[in-house]
Amino acid sequence: MTEPVAQGKLLLVGLGPGGVEHMSVRARSAIDEADTIIGHATYLRLVADLIADKQQVKSAMTEELERVTLAVELAQAGRTVALVSSGDSGVYGMAGLTFEILFQTGWTPNSGIAVETIPGATALTSCAALVGAPLSHDFCAISLSDLLTPWPVIARRLHAAAAADFVIALYNPKSGRRAHQILEAQRLLLAQRRPDTPVALVHSAYRPGQRTELCTLELLHQHEIGMSTLVLIGNSQTLVQHGLMLTPRGYANKYDLDQGTTIDGEQGGKPLSSGLDGWMQQIRTSDASAAELARRYALPEDYIADVLARLALD
Ligand code: SAH
Repeated sequence: MTEPVAQGKLLLVGLGPGGVEHMSVRARSAIDEADTIIGHATYLRLVADLIADKQQVKSAMTEELERVTLAVELAQAGRTVALVSSGDSGVYGMAGLTFEILFQTGWTPNSGIAVETIPGATALTSCAALVGAPLSHDFCAISLSDLLTPWPVIARRLHAAAAADFVIALYNPKSGRRAHQILEAQRLLLAQRRPDTPVALVHSAYRPGQRTELCTLELLHQHEIGMSTLVLIGNSQTLVQHGLMLTPRGYANKYDLDQGTTIDGEQGGKPLSSGLDGWMQQIRTSDASAAELARRYALPEDYIADVLARLALD
């Protein structure tokens, strides 16, 4: 391995959602270690007390490319640079753009500047924590920003996520210049989800002005949504109780939660009777055709036919 000679270091720091108390220990020490801090003014304000004695480069959101280029140049000149993102640097943050630029310049992990990515609590989990446990089953994140992504790509993902019954976190739901994307998203989701599907709107989580609201998918458009809002959309199982949003993990499929007993036909510590092996047994012994099974389980007929063919070989 070649040691980086007289080269600086680039620290890609995820600050977490806002307040210093939600930063990781390594994020704090990375900021201590850095002599130069680069980031959007909003994020630098969140950590103002920690960076008072450092050189600071503040920039607006639209200057991301310049910010990353400058961070790389300063690190190449021998500085220790912290490039800060809110949440996690790798989730709609600066890490992706940084590696794109580094790859273009022929950088490898063993040559040139040292790069360390420091993970942070992303808006997804931070906002979820404020409204209950909405992400306790499969979920996905979709950004509604069409600044760099064509709308049909975003719409296709919304459609697919709704069809697959994911809990959905909508990042970048709305800004001054992008007001209609959230309404289009609502339409696409309502085509496949109940109007009373629970929705949480979390504004400025762990920052001054933090606010949470619960509403339904049908009434989403009546609520204020902005750049600092994360929209959490429940799946078909998500419920609201005592002002908290919960997506059950699935224990009720196996246990009688009132009695504390296992449901007939299920065993603790074992996959469900409708888990992979049990399900394969069921379709092996079923009289239904591949086409009927495909409809019953909402799976591609090709897949069912392939499973049946493999079972026949066993
Ligand atoms: N890297 C960040 C995401 C940046 S994209 C992360 O990992 O969280 C910016 C979008 O994230 C915002 O438009 C908003 O939808 C969401 N977001 C970021 N921080 C937030 C916070 N503290 N509260 C609510 N939403 C937040």
